[in-house]
This record gives sequence, structure tokens and C-alpha cells, in this order.
Amino acid sequence: IIASQLVVPEEINVNWKDIAGLDHLINELRETVILPIQKRELFADSRLTQPPKGVLLHGPPGCGKTLIAKATAKEANMSFINLDVSLLTDKWYGETQKLAAAVFSLAVKLQPCIVFIDEIESFLRTRTQHDHEATAMMKTQFMSLWDGLITDPTCTVIIMGATNRPQDLDRAIQRRMPATFHVPMPGAAQRERILQLILRAEPTAADIDFARLGAATDGFSGSDLHELCRQAAVYRVRDLARDELAREEQCKQNKSSSSDSDDEYVDA
Ligand code: ATP
Repeated sequence: IIASQLVVPEEINVNWKDIAGLDHLINELRETVILPIQKRELFADSRLTQPPKGVLLHGPPGCGKTLIAKATAKEANMSFINLDVSLLTDKWYGETQKLAAAVFSLAVKLQPCIVFIDEIESFLRTRTQHDHEATAMMKTQFMSLWDGLITDPTCTVIIMGATNRPQDLDRAIQRRMPATFHVPMPGAAQRERILQLILRAEPTAADIDFARLGAATDGFSGSDLHELCRQAAVYRVRDLARDELAREEQCKQNKSSSSDSDDEYVDA
């Protein structure tokens, strides 16, 4: 497989309106990431005002890190490459290096561009003496490609990583990600809003009490709420399907009993 065929930009169809709560975080991202992209000439003027080429989103799983990364790209009108780290950590040594080079060269071609790396700590974790030689070389290569972006003031490619284990990230990587944001578990009001967003295009009862649901789902992440709604939707459709089958069965029985009585009439 040719490395460049594995790396394709993704069409994004989410924006800030799809994110419940997190207004403070959205504002920070506007100021730190989007403004420097939109007003590049002002920021690129001085070495001190260089926009960040690395952004880290950290927090518990399922709380919207991927959603935020995609919405940032959409709002800033940037291309979005979702880099699957398992490709970079794959055993076929040699190809991984080509792949990393392909990612960076595509991102530069498409700039402004966000390269999103979910679970970034899984391949850029703290280096140890036990690192496989190929892994160590891949990390070094990745960092030197990244440095190429950092030293070019006109470049508008951002590496945006997500992790729920920021403490496992290599120090050298942490330094390359000066803009770091925490994406926390949602509170009751945010859960209420997430449920409203998930169910906005779904057929629901008119009197659904979102505030009560938000309060009753303490400890649920956004993806837990998504799963909860999915299960409720499946139960609803199953009930409908069961009712419909029962109706069809009843119809069949009515028909056969009426044709039985027709037969009796003919016999008579
Ligand atoms: P992971 O760490 O497991 O990769 P994540 O933090 O990247 O998870 P997402 O994949 O962005 O989480 O979120 C999962 C789903 O949860 C989303 O598709 C969305 O339905 C819902 N969700 C999470 N947070 C929010 C939020 N703040 N607003 C609206 N929906 C949310």
C-alpha cells in the first residue's frame, strides 16, 4: 500500500453549535488557534507571537475532544487529517517513516490544516531504554518533521493531539504543544444540553424532561449519553416493530377465521 493512500483529509460537518457547554474552552481555542490562522500576517510578524503548532486536548474519554478538534477545523476553515496512530506504530518498519513524511507533506499542501492524533501518548510516550529501535527512530523522525513546521513562520499546520493520559507524553512532545486544554467530564447542565443535541433530530416525546435527565445521569460522559440515547431509540423501534408484527398476526388470524366461516357458508 502506498503511504499517501492511507492519509486522506476528512470532510467535517460539525461546528461550535454541535458542542454543548465548554464555552470557555471554545473561546480559548478561538483566541489561540483560530485568530492566528485568520490573521496570520499579524501573528507571523514576530517570533514572540508565533501561533502554536501543537495543541493538546486532554481529559477523560468520551467528553468531546475529537468533536472539538473537528469543530475547530470547520470554524477556522482548515483542512482536517485524522491520523490513525496504529498505522504509525505498525510493525512494517520503513513504511511508517514514509507514512509520517506523507502526512506532513499532505498537511503542508492543504494548509491551513489540523493533523489530529487521538491517543497521541500511545506513540509519543516517554522514551525508555526498552523502546524498539524502529519506534525510537519513528519518534525522532516525527519530531523533526514537526520542528520543520515550528521553524517556518508562514506555515499554518497544527498538530492537535488528544489524550486521557497526558502524564505519559514525552516531555519533548509536551514542549511542542504549548497550547494545552483540559476537556472535563460534563456537569448536569452540560449533560442536559448534550442530550438535547443528540436527540434534536430524533422522534421524542413532546414532554421529555431534559433537566431531570441531565441531573439523573451523574458520572456519564458525552459518549455514555450517546449510548444511552442509542439504546432508548432501539427500544422504541423494537416496541414499534413488535406491535406491528402483533397487528399483522392478528390480521392474518382474522382473515383465516373469516375464510373458515366463508367455507362453512359454502358447505351449507
Ligand atoms: P475518546 O477519548 O474516547 O477518543 P473524545 O473525548 O474524543 O473520546 P468524542 O469522540 O469527541 O470524545 O465524543 C464522543 C461523543 O460524545 C460525541 O460524538 C458526541 O455525541 C458526544 N459528546 C461528547 N462531548 C460532547 C459535548 N461537549 N457536546 C456535545 N456532544 C458531546
